[in-house]
Amino acid sequence: MSKKPASANSIVYSVDSGRAMQRLTIKLRLRDKHSAELNRQARAVNFVWNYCNETSGNAWRRDRRWLSGFDLGRLTAGSSKELDLHAHTIKNVCQQFSRSRDKAKRASIRWRGRRSLGWVPFNTGHVSFDGDALKFRGHCYHPMHLNPRLKAGMKIGASSFNADSKGRWYINLTIEVECANRAESTHVGVDLGLKDLATLSNGKKIEMPRLFRSSEEMLATAQRAGKSKRSRAIHRKIANRRKDFLHKASTALAKEYGLIVIGDVSPSKLAQTRMAKSVLDAGWSDFKRMLSYKAIMHGGGTIEVSERLTTQTCSECGSLPPSRPKGIAGLGIRGWECSECGAVHDRDVNAAKNILRVGLDTLAVGAST
Ligand SMILES: [Zn+2]
Repeated sequence: MSKKPASANSIVYSVDSGRAMQRLTIKLRLRDKHSAELNRQARAVNFVWNYCNETSGNAWRRDRRWLSGFDLGRLTAGSSKELDLHAHTIKNVCQQFSRSRDKAKRASIRWRGRRSLGWVPFNTGHVSFDGDALKFRGHCYHPMHLNPRLKAGMKIGASSFNADSKGRWYINLTIEVECANRAESTHVGVDLGLKDLATLSNGKKIEMPRLFRSSEEMLATAQRAGKSKRSRAIHRKIANRRKDFLHKASTALAKEYGLIVIGDVSPSKLAQTRMAKSVLDAGWSDFKRMLSYKAIMHGGGTIEVSERLTTQTCSECGSLPPSRPKGIAGLGIRGWECSECGAVHDRDVNAAKNILRVGLDTLAVGAST
């Protein structure tokens, strides 16, 4: 179940200031001393969930009644004190249950038990931050590290406490930060690739560290030895390092360029080819998502355009010369010369230039209509 609000990383307009605000979800690891209390609340949450599940199943079997989240909320009303849970936590659980159940189209769905990952939702305005700790229901929760975006007294939206498979607790916070205003606007086209994560229309390249490849042997050894715990740890380590790299790369781009045009390359499309592992390694979709919200935060923006023919078209003369790189075989061609105008191209830089041109054309069309 996804507990991330759908509105995360979107632009909202603040009623108070009239300025563009960026909505972000940040995740903070909490100190282990809070685990006992959060585990207790998570058990109570499971109790509410299972109550909803049972009641919903019975109502359907006996009376053909499909209980809504609102119905369930009414049935659980007043149990806050006894369960020692925030009343809105109970409400949220009822609503989330009804959403999951409606999606599954069954009156009762899976139960939440000891193996379910801990989850304690809360509503807008019920968690506050005083510069040091997060307060919820009169308890202070201390994160291991603070996030500089989190400011004392800021408005904190609906989200949840979540535990991972190792029982470590985190708090997810939905916050709003003001978008920067950008005076000058520079633009760049970005071609996402395998060897290089990104090639820019100005010729710069961001090389993808082969994180997975380098740890692959380690992983294979651990897997052969049947050490699943170690395998998972290696996987997690790779994932963290990749995320870290993608964050740094996307921040650098978002800071430098006002308009970032990206090709629409679909990872699922290419994951079907033999390059699957490299594709998963590259994490394009993560990168695109990071770029789009960071660009907004730095006062810029991103647009995604069709990548069709951007590799094959000559960015100098706009023709599709016979000498162009074509198909899967073309992926092996790094450089080529246009047989029409004689321009010599790096394949990816040429593609990035075309992507930028398509993006600027799209904007020009949008502005004139
Ligand atoms: Zn040409």
